[in-house]
Amino acid sequence: MLAAEPPVSRARPRPGSVRSRVVGVAATALAITALTAGGSVAAPGAGAGAPGQGDPYFPLAGNGGYTVRHYDLDLAYDPATRRLDGRAVITAHATQGLRAFDLDLSGLTVAGVRVDGRAAHWTRRGQELVIEPARTLRRGAAFRVDVAYGGVPEQVTDPDGSPDGWIATDDGAFVAGEPQGAMSWFPSDNHPLDKASYSFEITVPSGYTAVAGGVLTSRHTSRGETTFRWRQSRPMASYLATATVGKFDVQRYTTRSGIPVYNAVDPREEKGAAPALARIPDILDWETKLFGPYPFSAAGAIVDHAPDVGYALETQTRPIYDRAPDVGTVVHEMAHQWFGDSVSLTSWQDIWLNEGFATYAEWLWQEQHGGRSAQASFDHYYALPASDGLWAFPSADPGDGAHIFASPVYTRGAMTLQELRDAVGDRAFFTILRTWAHGHRYGNGTTAQFVALSERVSGKDLGELFHTWLYTAGKPPRP
Ligand SMILES: [Zn+2]
Repeated sequence: MLAAEPPVSRARPRPGSVRSRVVGVAATALAITALTAGGSVAAPGAGAGAPGQGDPYFPLAGNGGYTVRHYDLDLAYDPATRRLDGRAVITAHATQGLRAFDLDLSGLTVAGVRVDGRAAHWTRRGQELVIEPARTLRRGAAFRVDVAYGGVPEQVTDPDGSPDGWIATDDGAFVAGEPQGAMSWFPSDNHPLDKASYSFEITVPSGYTAVAGGVLTSRHTSRGETTFRWRQSRPMASYLATATVGKFDVQRYTTRSGIPVYNAVDPREEKGAAPALARIPDILDWETKLFGPYPFSAAGAIVDHAPDVGYALETQTRPIYDRAPDVGTVVHEMAHQWFGDSVSLTSWQDIWLNEGFATYAEWLWQEQHGGRSAQASFDHYYALPASDGLWAFPSADPGDGAHIFASPVYTRGAMTLQELRDAVGDRAFFTILRTWAHGHRYGNGTTAQFVALSERVSGKDLGELFHTWLYTAGKPPRP
């Protein structure tokens, strides 16, 4: 993610605080079915899955008791009424015996839930959709959850006041979910620890374009509606999913290295975006040289006209921009494909592993394209006084979810990498970056693992360097 410069106000009023439990006719019927089936009685050893993944910054994000293999999302959106109708078919497997489990879903109305084809009892508790399957799920069992839902999505307001999730625009919706917003438009295990493949089928009125990540597999128009099918076959964290809708001009081509590029651009941003979008093949090649093979089979950009959003996000394979981006922003979001998307966080506290790396990629781009060196960028920021916000907290300890997108994560995070490079030399430094990207590809990583890898590759004790830059309050002394 990268905030727009100059910063725009990201504060928005909170949406209605209490979300009422929805008990419609369908829900009541399902509840009766579940009760008369008598299957919801707990089997010995089977409990309820936890309502969160245990992330200290977002305790209710994600859920316990199962992992998801695939999301099949069938969506219809009408920009005129802002109504979204959805059906999510989730393939998962139980990591414990489950009498009940949760999905994360905020707002919207659930019409019905089925587990393995049988109607399931469900309730809403805040952002938790609590599901009791008719039959208790055994540990290790594969199962399928089918959720029908709809309504006008409400964007999620994050602890720092910024909007995310399904954000309506004047011609559709800007959809970007970091860190929590996925739950505003589909039910999920909403934490980067649980990555899965996705397929999207998005129906919009003809004339609109619906853009998700991955590869466009079909586009079909009938009776005034167009359905776009997208497939994301590599594991993806829920916050990196998008289903952005708008009136877009589409550019499609294949790079010399064989990667299909799909750009969707709001005509109002076309002229401003053209210079940066034209560099996508160069940026892909350059980052591949530095970081190793591009982890995905598609690339591109979604350039929307949504200036109130205030940021761009590295939605997987196809970053989304709220306005025409400059080259540095595209370099940043594309670097996230390696650092953040392919190699994901284990805990939101480690967000510097995403943002420090993407910011450092911008510094490297400048260094190798006629701008200042990364060391000069370091020196520039290091000159800031100890009272500056840059030194407000150490990079790997933002303290809470309200500070995960602040400059100590981005700039001080990038400075940490420059310090590492300075300590181990270019050869070891770039080996560390490539080994990190390769070794944790399509998975997750922790700061401790990155520190251990850096020491292993360089053969140096880097404990003090990382302790100072990542975990010690205040402006670090000159080494
Ligand atoms: Zn970023």
